[in-house]
Amino acid sequence: MSNVATKVAVVGSGISGAVCASTLARNGVSVAILDSARGPGGRMSQRREITEDGKELLFDHGAPYFTISNPDVLGLIHEWEARGLVAEWKQNFGSFDCIFKQFFDIEKEGLSKKYVGVPGMNSICRALCHEPGVESKFGVGVGKIEWLQAKDLWSLTGLDGQNLGHFNGVVASDKNTCAPRFTSVTGRPTPLGRRALHSFCWLLSHIIFVAFYAS
Ligand SMILES: Cc1cc2nc3c(=O)[nH]c(=O)nc-3n(C[C@H](O)[C@H](O)[C@H](O)COP(=O)(O)OP(=O)(O)OC[C@H]3O[C@@H](n4cnc5c(N)ncnc54)[C@H](O)[C@@H]3O)c2cc1C
Repeated sequence: MSNVATKVAVVGSGISGAVCASTLARNGVSVAILDSARGPGGRMSQRREITEDGKELLFDHGAPYFTISNPDVLGLIHEWEARGLVAEWKQNFGSFDCIFKQFFDIEKEGLSKKYVGVPGMNSICRALCHEPGVESKFGVGVGKIEWLQAKDLWSLTGLDGQNLGHFNGVVASDKNTCAPRFTSVTGRPTPLGRRALHSFCWLLSHIIFVAFYAS
């Protein structure tokens, strides 16, 4: 990855990071998505298994579907529908009981329309991660996010110590990048440490302040 500071880094390729990266790219910002997972989707990722008799089975790991409560999001969903990335799910949903080998709690279609990714929930993030202006790197865990005051840039370092480059902006789409839980799980300091978080909040408050005066 180049060190040229013309980019925004988006940490995480789940639905939040993927939509954010796509929106930035459509507005002329060059974006690099970095995700520690093998592929895009986060909690909307999909697993592929082959049965002993060679059948392919696809499992959505997280959200099986989504509904829309915010009318502003509807335009985006219609665009995804037109691109064949999502479709309305008109069948019932149910849970499969592995012990009794039967479906139970079959849910009738509710009032809200239910949408699913086509062919899987990860198709949305996969497509957004490959839009023009978005560079995606998988298997790259961000271990450190530092604000370089002298250079006016963010510096990202991988969990393995690799230099991931310098960026004008960083979007941390996963709260683990600054949550204490990161340390309890990994034994490492959070990527977005207290000092960087302070710089981040300081910058954010100034951006809001400038925006307030500009409006
Ligand atoms: C079983 C289950 C069922 C669900 N059902 C529904 C449902 O029916 N309807 C619904 O609307 N929602 C549902 N959800 C919730 C929905 O899936 C999530 O709210 C949504 O997918 C979260 O998206 P996100 O982008 O915010 O985070 P995530 O999808 O968690 O993405 C965060 C990404 O950041 C990456 N990352 C984190 N830290 C780092 C780091 N340091 N370096 C690099 N990468 C990093 C992770 O690998 C991950 O890919 C369900 C979730 C689960 C688990």
